Amino acid sequence: MQHFANTPEDTKKNLPKRDVFPAMLKGFKCKCPNCGDGKLFNSYLKVRDTCDICSEELFHQRADDAPAYFTIAIVSKIVTSLYIWVEIAYQPDYWIHAVLWLPMILIMCLGLLPLTKGALIGLQWANYMHGFNPNHVEGDDIELPHEDILAKQASS
Ligand SMILES: [Zn+2]
Repeated sequence: MQHFANTPEDTKKNLPKRDVFPAMLKGFKCKCPNCGDGKLFNSYLKVRDTCDICSEELFHQRADDAPAYFTIAIVSKIVTSLYIWVEIAYQPDYWIHAVLWLPMILIMCLGLLPLTKGALIGLQWANYMHGFNPNHVEGDDIELPHEDILAKQASS
């Protein structure tokens, strides 16, 4: 059983509901999840601090390793399926597989990484995760041992 000092749901009360799918779609297009017009990235994967159009604060995002995880999952499914199809249909030499799939893996991963990162930032924004929640207090969403919860409650 998990014990949180202050659940994320507690801090989201009275905030307007944000639709998750449109926000993720805007992020997937590398656009601001709030307005959909401003650019999300300064460079390849560097997220802008704020949106140039609507001034939404974007630096709260914590995508971390999740974009790489989802990119690998998606690319591996596609490339593995194509690999098996080509092997069954044509039985090419192994060097042909290497020439086909290694560049394709590299290009697909590099191309998909900013899109999955943008979609995940859209997901975080729409769900008021981390600093996107104006009621968020740094450290309140950290899981605490039960004794620490009791100590915190006793002191307040
Ligand atoms: Zn914006």
